[in-house]
Amino acid sequence: MDVVERILVSKEQLDKQVEELGARISRDYEGQELVIIGVLKGGFIFLADLARKITIPVDLDFMSVSSYGNSSKSSGIVKIIKDVDTDITGKHVLIVEDIIDTGLTLNHLVELLKTRGPLSVKVCAALDKPSRRKVDLKVDYKGIEIPDEFVIGYGLDYAGKYRNIQEVCVLKREVYTKK
Ligand code: 5GP
Ligand code: MG
Ligand code: MG
Repeated sequence: MDVVERILVSKEQLDKQVEELGARISRDYEGQELVIIGVLKGGFIFLADLARKITIPVDLDFMSVSSYGNSSKSSGIVKIIKDVDTDITGKHVLIVEDIIDTGLTLNHLVELLKTRGPLSVKVCAALDKPSRRKVDLKVDYKGIEIPDEFVIGYGLDYAGKYRNIQEVCVLKREVYTKK
């Protein structure tokens, strides 16, 4: 698409990463009660891929949060738009996100879910921008590290679009700097 500056992570790299994470999660939670919570909207493609690489029975649920609006900069404000329906009391929870940038969103979600009496709350993200971190967040299942660039594709949007691009791509700067 003409808004793409360049491809940062290929389909092959994503597939390989997802397969590894799926295998690790399957091993680590074997015989345990696991609820996987996908963070909408960005996490839906990664979770769809990841869930099919997990070989143990799991509950899948979703939360929808908003922190960015239409801009490419974090507001630091996390609004819960849709909560999970599943009771997580006494269960292991794994939150699945598209990308960790400042870490504010996941930090907030982890703290919120911990108040509901789960056995554990861990975090999995397809992409990680460690240079942008504002809070100390433990990422238990970390995908691919990327530099500080605004990316689209593989679930990630710009102003609601481009989530359906198969690769992770750098958005052309002129797209979000033009007035
Ligand atoms: P954080 O709270 O860690 O700063 O950011 C969390 C959310 O911001 C991500 O789940 C994602 O929705 C959005 N975000 C962060 N970096 C990017 C990016 O490079 N591209 C897009 N499209 N969204 C991003
Ligand atoms: Mg997200
Ligand atoms: Mg977004």
